[in-house]
Amino acid sequence: MQKLTIAIDGPAGSGKSSLARRVASMLGYLYMDSGAMYRAVALKALRRRVPLNDEQALSTIARETHVELKRPSPEQEAAGAKNCVFLDGVEVTDEIRTEEVAQAASRLATIQEVREVLVAEQQRAGAGGGIVMEGRDIGTVVFPDAELKIFLDASPEVRAQRRWKEHQEKGDKISLQEVVEEVRERDRRDRERKVSPLVRAADAVLVDNTAMGIDETARIIVMLVKERDATAAKAGRTA
Ligand code: C5P
Repeated sequence: MQKLTIAIDGPAGSGKSSLARRVASMLGYLYMDSGAMYRAVALKALRRRVPLNDEQALSTIARETHVELKRPSPEQEAAGAKNCVFLDGVEVTDEIRTEEVAQAASRLATIQEVREVLVAEQQRAGAGGGIVMEGRDIGTVVFPDAELKIFLDASPEVRAQRRWKEHQEKGDKISLQEVVEEVRERDRRDRERKVSPLVRAADAVLVDNTAMGIDETARIIVMLVKERDATAAKAGRTA
């Protein structure tokens, strides 16, 4: 099989991370959580108390920051860890998973220059193919030629419930209503921003997993990958 590029985009709580990780592990591909990069830069901005409307300062921070995503250990992976995230060499895997950081990330994600820096990094990381990258603009901007694009969605209620459950498991003190509002606000900002808004690419397959489990959804994606791979191989033979 060839090593394809798989782009998974969708709103908060749509299940992108679990799905992307599962598909990557079924195929032996790399997994990359592009949102973690926006979150890491946001964490640095918050720590430095940079106002989130200061586009110039935030762009400078993005340019001067080194974010590295590493594969978690098998134990961390089994416990549900995504990528391990390093901010200028220091691990911030847990620190970036707060609602404050998520909101700040979605604010600085509206800034063109910040996006340019992070998109270039993401393109470098995925240049060799054999990768499942998840985010908001992977199929539209980062890898517009990806062999398979998925737009993953679920009802707003189910997405908020999933996020809330994650917080409960970590022992965070946040109500379901607060999570509903946080998700709604972030989605609105992500969908309405001028630069690279969250939209379904014209050639993305829409998958609604409101009533579907991770196993079933991952099986569908792997089936689509095999189909795309066969098509690419056939095209290669006739070329
Ligand atoms: O995926 P996650 O919820 O961790 O992303 C945090 C925020 O980063 C999103 O709400 C979005 O504003 C931004 N983001 C983005 N483009 C991506 C990934 C994330 O704008 N490719």
